[in-house]
Amino acid sequence: DMPVAVSLLNSYSGIAAASTGFVLENNMLIIAGALVGASGLILTNIMCKGMNRSLMNVLLGGWENAGTVTGPSEAAKNVQIKSVDAEELAMLFDAAQNVIVIPGYGMAVAQAQHAIRDLSNVLEKKGVRVRFAVHPVAGRMPGHMNVLLAEANVPYDKLYAMEDINDDFSNTDIALIIGANDVVNPAARSNPQSPIYGMPILNADYAKTVVINKRSLNVGYAGIDNELFGYPNALMYFGDAKEAMNKLANELKNL
Ligand code: NDP
Repeated sequence: DMPVAVSLLNSYSGIAAASTGFVLENNMLIIAGALVGASGLILTNIMCKGMNRSLMNVLLGGWENAGTVTGPSEAAKNVQIKSVDAEELAMLFDAAQNVIVIPGYGMAVAQAQHAIRDLSNVLEKKGVRVRFAVHPVAGRMPGHMNVLLAEANVPYDKLYAMEDINDDFSNTDIALIIGANDVVNPAARSNPQSPIYGMPILNADYAKTVVINKRSLNVGYAGIDNELFGYPNALMYFGDAKEAMNKLANELKNL
């Protein structure tokens, strides 16, 4: 929750600067301070809304298991999952017309953004429409996914904010989740007991097929299982994101 605290403290520095501007009768200081203060408060608000938590909860409390990387629970281990390899996936992608990529923290860990850009180039050459859905709190800091995808030269017009793309998942052949977990966890919609209940999520589960790339069934930041892995339309594609995307792109090139 540190980015929220940093953003809030940053906004205070702006407010302090604006107040100093009033004392010194310096208009530039007032304007600059007000801009820093307001933008910090807006960002703090966006991030709290993205996690469906109040500012007080972020600053003083938090999710019980937040930040602890643990394995799946016994119940999650017993869920029937379907796992696929790169070769099988390539055939699936070859037949798709549109794909939405959902990057998460795992993409950042694996530094897979360039491999993902290459994969999207291969798909586009085959006539597949590729878009990227970016959740406001995906990753571990504000704008984390946007920065990494921009670094890999993914065109900005292919990046969609959650509210702009969420209705399109039901018309999408494949939702490709790369190292994301909490931001696509349907428990946020359906399970009032879940600590993330009420958090807006990307509707990846509404796509015809959901492909989830991660290394294991381990939990994400919130420390909770993800029932999506066992959904009938879900396929697990296990492996480090960078390696897995490279393999998939190579298989696709060979088709
Ligand atoms: P999550 O933390 O929910 O999940 C990340 C997943 O990435 C893990 O389950 C892990 O699974 C997988 N992973 C890790 N390394 C790799 C790898 N090398 N290759 C492939 N997969 C990998 O991430 P999300 O982005 O979905 O959600 C972000 C979370 O962080 C939210 O709960 C949010 O509230 C929180 N948060 C966000 C902040 C922000 O500003 N963006 C700030 C503070 C908190 P496995 O180990 O099985 O591979």
